[in-house]
Amino acid sequence: MACNQRDVVVVGGGIAGCFAAATAAAAGLDVVQLERKPREQGGFIACGDAIKSPRDPQKYPGPIDMDAIADDEAVLVDNNIDQIEYWDEELGVRKVLPYETGSNVIDRYEFGQRLLEQAADNGAVQHYDTVVNEVLQDGRVTGVKAVRDGEPVRYECDVLIDTAGAQSILQDMIEFETLDTPGAPTFEVPHYTHFGSAYREIIETEKPVEYHNAIVGKPLEELGYIWYFPRTPTQINVGLGFQMNKEPIPLADRLRRDIEDRPEYQGANVAEKFDTKNKLGSAIALRRPLDSMVAPGYLTAGGAVGTTHPITGKGIRGAAYSGYSAGRAAVEAIEDGDVSEHGLWEHNRWLYREHGEAAKLASWDAYNVAASALEVNVLRALTALLPEAELREIVGTSTEVDDLKSKLLVGTGVLKNFLAEYRRDTFETLGVSTHELYEAVLGLRETRTYVSEYERQYDAYPADRSGFERWRAERDYIDRDFYDALDLSPSEHKY
Ligand SMILES: Cc1cc2nc3c(=O)[nH]c(=O)nc-3n(C[C@H](O)[C@H](O)[C@H](O)COP(=O)(O)OP(=O)(O)OC[C@H]3O[C@@H](n4cnc5c(N)ncnc54)[C@H](O)[C@@H]3O)c2cc1C
Repeated sequence: MACNQRDVVVVGGGIAGCFAAATAAAAGLDVVQLERKPREQGGFIACGDAIKSPRDPQKYPGPIDMDAIADDEAVLVDNNIDQIEYWDEELGVRKVLPYETGSNVIDRYEFGQRLLEQAADNGAVQHYDTVVNEVLQDGRVTGVKAVRDGEPVRYECDVLIDTAGAQSILQDMIEFETLDTPGAPTFEVPHYTHFGSAYREIIETEKPVEYHNAIVGKPLEELGYIWYFPRTPTQINVGLGFQMNKEPIPLADRLRRDIEDRPEYQGANVAEKFDTKNKLGSAIALRRPLDSMVAPGYLTAGGAVGTTHPITGKGIRGAAYSGYSAGRAAVEAIEDGDVSEHGLWEHNRWLYREHGEAAKLASWDAYNVAASALEVNVLRALTALLPEAELREIVGTSTEVDDLKSKLLVGTGVLKNFLAEYRRDTFETLGVSTHELYEAVLGLRETRTYVSEYERQYDAYPADRSGFERWRAERDYIDRDFYDALDLSPSEHKY
């Protein structure tokens, strides 16, 4: 069997993989990036393709030149998105919320191709058609076995970076409890209910859609949403996703049912890519980022760790900054000659304490928990009644939400607003009582209090491995308190 010895092996040619590989290679390490797809299909990934502020170095740190990518017209095919729309057609609700300029719906394939090129330009060696099927471990993770172009290959390394996406197979293969850690391993293996399932098609319409400057979301019968994200006025990324702790929805059929009666999709075609219809589905992390993303010889980032917005499922930029963080931590640990849990801890520290967005995502997951506890129709009524500003902030970025607390204090005012705005038959359509609605508003207000508690706890994330158990016990205490406040039975606890 052919054998490769490298400083760093990165599994995955997605966003997190490219940011990790570029960062480690730019610092002078010998890096190989493994991707199961062929070169020309790299970056061909199921995604809604919505991206915000691609030129912001805080969101996309490291050696990848995002300005060059954003300047590429093949990537930013539509540069015109300036609003979010929420439609609940059954209720006659259409909410239009202004959206940050600099928001885009990209050609995700071209974006992925540019990232792969840049990872290579920064010095990473790339092996395509390489499927990782085993993780090597001996007290620490030491490498992987793979099949490359049909031949078995062994890759040995100081640090393995797992960027194999949501539900990474590597995490199932590693026996974390047998690794050499000072106490129980800190790495948290996610549960399948922490993921969603999502599917999208690229549809080409005959005429420009009226909402060509908006990203549109509509509720589903289970917790989740249908989206229409226009790449161009006539090329629409249409998709849907739902959370796996709910009844499964046959995604492709449900999408067809949704669009078949819409006038703008009459005569429309699904675009072609690689001689087939451009339709793709995948898992998506809908949980807080993992408590710890390191194990001896092992770092993980992106969809594999849950750096995804827990409400919208957007994870492009989380994959970028967490991939960068993994590459950076690998460099430091290898330079220091310490790839133990302790030596790799910098990845957790940087993400939770220094960069900070992982901490905000983790705190915001409380809204996912609270929403999961509600009947979908109550949630729809609540969304219909929430003033536009609150809605925007809940589905917007975490940096925009800091004053939400005060806004939610208007809970009872919101309810009055709803009662004034909608007729009793609207309640009947949804089968929702005013009492249920009132309880939901109170629950949302209470959830905001817990979001603040989580924020305080994540701000105090341990700077090194030694404080972890204590920190986690305190965080688990907040979880239990929160579940009690929501009146959730143990089987309904998310974590
Ligand atoms: C349908 C859908 C819509 C979405 N819409 C949006 C959106 O509009 N905006 C947004 O910001 N986010 C969106 N997301 C989320 C976003 O796409 C992900 O968070 C992001 O792609 C995660 O990047 P990643 O690099 O971690 O993983 P991925 O992009 O999944 O990349 C993982 C890579 O690893 C490779 N790989 C996996 N296993 C192996 C193996 N065993 N051997 C070798 N290679 C392997 C895969 O082929 C893949 O290339 C969406 C997700 C889905 C599923």
